[in-house]
Amino acid sequence: MLILLTNDDGIYAPGLAAMAQEMRHLGEVVVVAPATEQSGVGHSITYLTPLIVKEVFHHDVTDGEKRLGWAVEGSPADCVKLGIHQFCARPPNLVVSGINSGANVGINVLYSGTVAAAIEGAFFKVTSVAVSLEIDEQPDYVTGARLARQLVEQLVARRPPAGSLYSVNLPAFHRGWPKGIRVVPMGLDRHGERFERRTDPRGRTYYWITSERVEPEKFAETDVSSLREGYVTITPLNFDLSRFDNLRDMAEWTWRMPERERIDG
Ligand code: MN
Repeated sequence: MLILLTNDDGIYAPGLAAMAQEMRHLGEVVVVAPATEQSGVGHSITYLTPLIVKEVFHHDVTDGEKRLGWAVEGSPADCVKLGIHQFCARPPNLVVSGINSGANVGINVLYSGTVAAAIEGAFFKVTSVAVSLEIDEQPDYVTGARLARQLVEQLVARRPPAGSLYSVNLPAFHRGWPKGIRVVPMGLDRHGERFERRTDPRGRTYYWITSERVEPEKFAETDVSSLREGYVTITPLNFDLSRFDNLRDMAEWTWRMPERERIDG
């Protein structure tokens, strides 16, 4: 199995290193990740400027030199595009993104670079999994990656249709071992809805968004509520934004196309 591994926290992030180590038990791993942190960039891509790519290594006194992978001066989606087109010798069987520092639940799923990388993988009809670990003062990425590997193995064993897309969230381990696994929909709760207004040393006003926890919608069992309760959450995702329920109805409306002459007049 060929696995393309990426993230949005950057090639030097500990969550990526832990995931690379675990994914190597499942197959050959190609790491293509952003050179610098790209959290919250969503599905942005780079096309107005060139994409600089460097092969990067980790130097350790005891371990010596270890190859980390390809560092891309671009977004997570850029990494997956480049990874598939340029750095994978054949189409990968799996795209894995993570482990992200911080959960990607609720509306955050749409801001997430971690999830966007997995969506990009699904565009290529490759089964893709985003993995995120709830924010923790001392995040245990090694345990998170071991758990994630077991979940990825279970997903792959089901032989999902090509291009299947999943987002996995792990509760912070300081809260205890996860209570179980829940397959739940994405919540519609918002995050970080407050701005701090400050003044910089030159007297200019600036604003900085804060990330606050929002109480999950009552009664709805979502990724937000289940993660809060201490469960691992798995959410199958779609990137088709069309509203098919409205589409049929709207297509039947009588639409008037104005004459060209009337537009100019
Ligand atoms: Mn991130």
